[in-house]
Amino acid sequence: MKETKSTCPYCGVGCGVIIESQGDQITGVRGDPDHPANFGRLCTKGSTLHLTASAEVTRQTRLLQPMQRLERNADPQAVTWDTALDTAADKFATVIREHGADAVGFYVSGQLLTEDYYVFNKLAKGLIGTNNIDTNSRLCMSSAVAGYKKTLGADSPPACYDDFKDAQCLFIVGSNTAWAHPILFRRIEDAKRANPAMKIIVADPRRTDTAEIADLFLPIQPGTDVMLFHGMLHLMLWEGWTKPEYIAAHTTGFDALKTTVRDCTPDKVAQTCGIDKADLLEAARLFATSAATLSLYCQGLNQSSSGTAKNAALINLHLATAQIGKAGAGPFSLTGQPNAMGGREVGGLANLLSAHRDMSNPTHRAEVAALWGVPDVPATPGKTAVEMFQAAADGEIKALWIACTNPAQSMPDQATVRRALERAEFVVVQEAFATTATCAYADLLLPATTWGEKTGTVTNSERRISRVRPAVAAPGATRHDWSAATDFAQRLEARLPPRASTTLFPYPLDSEAGAESIWNEHRESTRGRDLDITGLSWPMLDAQGPQQWPLPEGASTGRVRLYEDGRFPTPDGRARFVDTPYKPVAEQREARFPFSLNTGRLRDQWHGMSRTGTLGRLFGHVAEPVVQMHPQDMARRQLKDGDLVHVTSRRGSLVLPVQASAEVGMSQAFIPMHWGSEYLSGSTSIGDRVGGVNALTNPAFCPDSKQPELKHSAVKILKAEMP
Ligand code: SF4
Repeated sequence: MKETKSTCPYCGVGCGVIIESQGDQITGVRGDPDHPANFGRLCTKGSTLHLTASAEVTRQTRLLQPMQRLERNADPQAVTWDTALDTAADKFATVIREHGADAVGFYVSGQLLTEDYYVFNKLAKGLIGTNNIDTNSRLCMSSAVAGYKKTLGADSPPACYDDFKDAQCLFIVGSNTAWAHPILFRRIEDAKRANPAMKIIVADPRRTDTAEIADLFLPIQPGTDVMLFHGMLHLMLWEGWTKPEYIAAHTTGFDALKTTVRDCTPDKVAQTCGIDKADLLEAARLFATSAATLSLYCQGLNQSSSGTAKNAALINLHLATAQIGKAGAGPFSLTGQPNAMGGREVGGLANLLSAHRDMSNPTHRAEVAALWGVPDVPATPGKTAVEMFQAAADGEIKALWIACTNPAQSMPDQATVRRALERAEFVVVQEAFATTATCAYADLLLPATTWGEKTGTVTNSERRISRVRPAVAAPGATRHDWSAATDFAQRLEARLPPRASTTLFPYPLDSEAGAESIWNEHRESTRGRDLDITGLSWPMLDAQGPQQWPLPEGASTGRVRLYEDGRFPTPDGRARFVDTPYKPVAEQREARFPFSLNTGRLRDQWHGMSRTGTLGRLFGHVAEPVVQMHPQDMARRQLKDGDLVHVTSRRGSLVLPVQASAEVGMSQAFIPMHWGSEYLSGSTSIGDRVGGVNALTNPAFCPDSKQPELKHSAVKILKAEMP
């Protein structure tokens, strides 16, 4: 039996795994006791990874050969890689020649490795000359990026997992950590056991499993987070709990913010947020007066039409009370996907450039162009996720390349997304699994390697870079995402006017050396930046294990915590208070749509279930999709558990069984995000035909981060008439 150290592919905790294999078969998996994220523990998803890689599951679910559709709706035919990539290069070159570089788009994924991300980013911005590359990470953490940049000057989470044990107050807001980041929740439970004096505040519209550990639970109304944070700051000022010396020495902009929060009186906050004034005061006191306060937050803040404002208002609290830059303190965003952070590092989004450089900064653009050896990179931000599919639906984007993600299930407003996929002239889907809804729209299907087969790196929520290593050979004709992208880029280079005297993509295909050379190029791009990793190498990762950034040349280890010296990566070295007024959700409840629909993860499922959906045991926790409602709302509508209801928004309708849940507030509802139409198509009574819960969700997005408001849509819920 062979043992291979790698990283779990599911969530941003980034747990280390040891893969057991015999020949070409993965036979087992266990937690890596040496990995500093999990110290040997794994959750239900991580500990069943090997079962999702069995020969039988591979046979039933994997895409193992390039496939091409000669006509829409025709069955795809197997083709060689040469045929597939030449066809793709011909199509993309024709569209670029006839309609310009911005007529193509790349939609990639936080599941990709850093090396994959790097090549796609360079392909779009360096070779083609379009910033139309965005990622499904737009749906999970772009508000955190914008919040950090606006306040602290760089997209660099300042805290780390070790801070749990030093925190005296933990403020968990908009995060069901117990289900979405289970191993971190185990560490929080450990910290609470070791330090019973530590106070935990949980703020969430739903009383989730995470709330069970709370000393203080704030069941805020959906979307009212900014009002809550401003109300806490109002009380901190009134009670004298802020830190004027820190504010004066290390920040700017506090006076303007003070004027805004003056109006956020306890009465107003209590009424808007739906919480007790006494609880508001207690939350403000615990946050401000504890020796160290750590905030953990995730999609409840990010997936919002005011996502950036929510992030900034929370960081304001840390700056006002000097709860940052010390052990156990700081604002700490949790990333949903395993490598959302790596995508941010390489600048693999429509509005970012490599190594946290800004697209709007001419010096930064020139630096990236020089690194790549091209004359320039475009200055105009590309289309972000929602904008990209809208542009395709409008006929503006004509060729789409989708890698390792399933927008025909995961994007809001599925009717528009599916119209976009139908209207685009040429759609490439690069996927490990043949079972995703998006595959049905592909003109070209490219088979990708996946966990247990891939080689490269990922970065977790605490800035820690870990190796992903192959335990078995790539099955069938599958290829690494970076390798297929590189091969395509080389063929496209030959069809477009030259951008450089030699190829921009000189990486050896289909080899470990190719991935390492891409990573080395990425490493060089970070020199002198806040995420500088010029002191790190793959041999060092092999010898010393996962490392946090920054780790500049000459350093022996990465930095555990940021901003301990009170200096921030802004032009004047000071953090910035951001004065953001409270705005309600984009689509408010009203008489015709009286419920707030929330969406989210279940404990044992991942995304659209391409992997977790192959295991019966992972349905033991929750077997089927239901819409959860408060028992009193059900009683008033004479509904009982299991009754079928129509859930209808302005964009679509689903039929689902209803289930009473005291976790859900009055006039609210919750539907898990994992089921799409394909999983429900065998049923005559349950489900939809237009992409799961995202048939209902609202594409309205935050004006700064462009992250859509997946956490709130106004819906009506009516009992379905039975024939
Ligand atoms: Fe994998 Fe996340 Fe579970 Fe860790 S917590 S084992 S990274 S799914």
